[in-house]
Amino acid sequence: MDYHTIHGVNWCPYCLRLVKMKQKRIRCAVIGVGHLGKFHAEKYAQLPEAQLVAVVDQDLARAEELAEKYNCQALTDHTQLIGLVDAVSIVTPTQTHYDVAKFFLAHGIHSLIEKPITTTVSEADELIQIAKKNHCLIQVGHLERFNSAIIALHSILKTPRFIESHRIAPFTPRGADVNVVLDLMIHDIDLIRFLVDSPVRSIAANGAPILTNEIDIANARIEFENGCVANVTASRAGMKQERSMRIFQSDAYISIDLQEKTCSIYRKGKGEMFPGIPEINKETSTFPQSDAILAEISAFIHAIQTKTPSPVSGEAGKEALEIAARITEIVKGNIL
Ligand code: NAD
Repeated sequence: MDYHTIHGVNWCPYCLRLVKMKQKRIRCAVIGVGHLGKFHAEKYAQLPEAQLVAVVDQDLARAEELAEKYNCQALTDHTQLIGLVDAVSIVTPTQTHYDVAKFFLAHGIHSLIEKPITTTVSEADELIQIAKKNHCLIQVGHLERFNSAIIALHSILKTPRFIESHRIAPFTPRGADVNVVLDLMIHDIDLIRFLVDSPVRSIAANGAPILTNEIDIANARIEFENGCVANVTASRAGMKQERSMRIFQSDAYISIDLQEKTCSIYRKGKGEMFPGIPEINKETSTFPQSDAILAEISAFIHAIQTKTPSPVSGEAGKEALEIAARITEIVKGNIL
């Protein structure tokens, strides 16, 4: 029997009763199974609503190793996937995102594109238009949105007035095809843009190349139209790992460790620490080491199945990229 689907719900054409049908499994593939892509493959293989059809990597041995592990096909050429998949994760180096994503979106295949969406804003715009024309979804891999400390923040956050973020990492050649603003700072740019939810009024920035010919360390002061100011620092020339954010709002100071998934909230208490000066009370919450990549991929599959917008749309990826591109330009202009 053929069922009618109205608003994503199946109806029997004869009795017009709601029919509970099992959702069709989404046929998926991962393009680029290096450091991050192998985790995408693992999550698709473990989700019952997805079927991992293939892994693609220009390094055949790497593709074969994962294909054997997850009992799927190994390919070196992503163009062979047409007709075999409904959705893909694009986890190749950033410089290749545009070409690979353009190919899939033009064939109507939903695409989870790793961050940054592309290297230029015009490329991101083009991908968004192609996706719209072909009725498919773009989700951008801004993984911190799925960090349990950030999810918990929603119930505490009011109107942030000042935000400070630090993202420091030791150098790795992975990701060095773009500068540190596009590679690392863009995570915090996306989060801050999402939390502040106001257009950018002005940006001041500085930075320097240290280990490569590109910007390896950068600091930006972003002023938003609602008055919030963010001071954002990223380095890929560090000797330690740090991913932290401090948020100041009228009733609280919130300190988040994105790596350890802890959140400390400092509020004014009823007592006094000095005459006329309120005491400060501290609450600390630690969140379970939840699986952010699994949550991200589940959300992507859910959006496809329910025909609802993806939680981190192509537009969101483009807006973060626009800010990152402006910061890059300002930093380059300030390098002597
Ligand atoms: P990586 O170098 O470890 O892996 C990239 C893989 O892609 C390699 O195996 C390479 O052989 C393969 N590849 C390259 N071009 C290809 C092509 N045209 N077709 C098929 N395979 C191809 O890099 P990585 O660290 O996994 O990063 C990949 C992407 O993920 C980058 O865009 C990076 O910015 C992003 N990333 C995001 C996060 C996050 O937290 N969201 C973390 C790390 C990396």
